[in-house]
Amino acid sequence: MNKSKNKDPDILKIGDTSIKRGERVDLSLKVGALYDHTPLSIPLEVIRGKLGGPTLFISAAVHGDELNGVEIIRRILKRKELNQLTGTLILIPVVNVFGFNNKSRYLPDRRDLNRSFPGTSAGSLAGRMARLFIKEVVEKCTHGIDLHTGAIHRANLPQIRACLEDVKTKELAQSFGVPVIIDSKIRDGSLREAARKKKVTTLLFEGGEALRFNEDVIKSGVKGCISVMEKIGMIKKSPSKAAKKKKKVYIANNSFWIRSPHSGAVNFFKSLGDNIKNGDLLATVSNTFGREATNVYATEDGILVGLAMLPLVNQGDALFHIATFKDTTKVKKALDIYSEDH
Ligand SMILES: [Zn+2]
Repeated sequence: MNKSKNKDPDILKIGDTSIKRGERVDLSLKVGALYDHTPLSIPLEVIRGKLGGPTLFISAAVHGDELNGVEIIRRILKRKELNQLTGTLILIPVVNVFGFNNKSRYLPDRRDLNRSFPGTSAGSLAGRMARLFIKEVVEKCTHGIDLHTGAIHRANLPQIRACLEDVKTKELAQSFGVPVIIDSKIRDGSLREAARKKKVTTLLFEGGEALRFNEDVIKSGVKGCISVMEKIGMIKKSPSKAAKKKKKVYIANNSFWIRSPHSGAVNFFKSLGDNIKNGDLLATVSNTFGREATNVYATEDGILVGLAMLPLVNQGDALFHIATFKDTTKVKKALDIYSEDH
């Protein structure tokens, strides 16, 4: 309790801006300039409730081409619940502003911002941006949600990735409400790792494709962020929702990629969320005349959580990301109920 009090002071300072309880403020964190000296900043909105409580950040486009999170935040900003907030919400629709403007995952020097945390103020552009974000946002929070999509030419089933060894993180992951959770060991240099080291309970949501707005994924993300805010007491649960049965969520035992045995063109026979059985025909890879076809089979039972979208592959390219569960039939059922609810 003490900790969250320290992180929710009467006057919150971000950059040069002081924000009092009950205020809603737009501000920009200056990160640098373009080649022509045009200044570039990270835009963010801070919404403070009259009552103290948790401080949550929701960030998107740490990879500049991952747009679903941008739309998720735009929709959260319109929610009426924010007028009755307890605690503080910090929304950052675009973290990697350089990549976003170039429709690119990376920074102009090809560095990946999500491998550059916690960063240093004397380092590369990526390192400086990372440090600024940690200092001005993450260190001021008790909780965080970082929104991602699949990398370019890959689509992902909406899923939560979190380090489930930590009980608080596990509870938060379950409260998000998407049926599939993947226990994901921390990635070196990621925002999630840097936040965990600062004792900020953080989830990563990912779904859909880069450079697209995927409506189902966006709805899942909005719902999930609102559920997390209800769970940590920032907004009140509506009575009709409270009466609803708790959504079933499942934690994957493991996940693995099936790769292409050859270079060529691919015909895919499975879709995201499909219940895959060991031995199922997943795809064929053949040459440009449609000859020399090689079948690709499943090697284990599981749920299809990630899929290549480009039908041209080199040998060894990732085709299918499959998560394994104790009982895939139950997971499939939960996924069907979840998508009907949308
Ligand atoms: Zn990403």
